Amino acid sequence: MAFIVQKFGGSSVANAERIWRVAGIIAETYSEGNDVVVVLSAQGDTTDELIEKAAEINPHASKREMDVLLSTGEQISIALMAMALEKMGLPVISLTGWQIGMLTNSDYGNARIKKVSCDRIRNELDKRRIVIVAGFQGINKYDDITTLGRGGSDTTAVAIAAAMNADLCQIYTDVEGVFTADPRKVPNARKLEEITYDEMLELASLGAKVLHNRSVEMAKRYNVNLEVLSSFVRAPGTKVKEVVKLEQTKISGIAKDTNVARIALIGVKDEPGVAFKVFRELARHKINVDIILQSIGHGDTQDISFTVAKSDMAQAVQSLQEQQEVIGFKELSVTDKIAKVSMVGAGMVNSSGVAALMFEALYAAKINIHMISTSEIKVSVLVDESEADRAVQAVHAKFFGN
Ligand code: ASP
Ligand code: MG
Repeated sequence: MAFIVQKFGGSSVANAERIWRVAGIIAETYSEGNDVVVVLSAQGDTTDELIEKAAEINPHASKREMDVLLSTGEQISIALMAMALEKMGLPVISLTGWQIGMLTNSDYGNARIKKVSCDRIRNELDKRRIVIVAGFQGINKYDDITTLGRGGSDTTAVAIAAAMNADLCQIYTDVEGVFTADPRKVPNARKLEEITYDEMLELASLGAKVLHNRSVEMAKRYNVNLEVLSSFVRAPGTKVKEVVKLEQTKISGIAKDTNVARIALIGVKDEPGVAFKVFRELARHKINVDIILQSIGHGDTQDISFTVAKSDMAQAVQSLQEQQEVIGFKELSVTDKIAKVSMVGAGMVNSSGVAALMFEALYAAKINIHMISTSEIKVSVLVDESEADRAVQAVHAKFFGN
């Protein structure tokens, strides 16, 4: 007998037929004698639809009221799932975030979990009930409803698994696991048996969209046994863990992120303190900067370019232009028609020439690189957005064949 947390995403519970399919998976896990806690997302596109509804009434609605609204999507899912299991004759109870004591800070719309009390879940499990929990939501110290940020149900599941010391946390989704590239774009992408937390973190933040970033951070911190698998195809998924078996290839995956804009400051004075002035300005507006490139000075000036998220582009440009005198640059150029393509692999740390293979693949495909950045387990390049899919395919073929 084991203690298993199972999380099902929005597409897995999108309609009645899918709810029944998922109920079947839960029932099977329960009848094997396991303790089962289930975490659900809102059905299908519910959360997006709720956001649209809010915009019709008040596009500037307060974040607090947005959270009251958005948390309803998950509540629908848990009630419906509990009803399905009831109908199958199984003992089941649905619980919201506040009922399970999911305490968060007050950063509405992007709240951080502070503590999960779990007493209620423990009690219900002791009665041999299946517990169905609303993902994505919590309460703050004022007893107000909060949400954990888009995709946050993964984090709910991992937080419960960590707090209650579950044997396994399964994240069921509409793909069969973590792939070496997006299988819709790269037909011969293959499913990974295992991946490290660190690689998964890089891939999640690179736009691989499999797991919520914070869920992986938390899984790593508390050493939660994580598995990503499909609710549609019954097959082993991908295990996310600290150390994995060494595969022949040094690379685990190649991801594309199109949520990137590049800003270049041209003709910046070549003197101490300039970079500080630029990035202090961005920090003041809480704008995250990713890749930074500073050119070698020519004459008494140089260029500084960097990337930000598309959603921060307008604000970044505006605030830098306001500070043009103070920073002292000649021109600002900006584009959002670019994308970041990254390859990730824990095996890169102790092997040379991996980056060269990536650049060779891009060269052979005649794809121009605008910027490069690297970390221990990652190489990212900035390319034109129109060439990003081709870039992923070319790099993938280099490492995994055609
Ligand atoms: N329903 C929320 C969203 O769409 C949370 C989740 O699905 O994990 O972002
Ligand atoms: Mg998700």
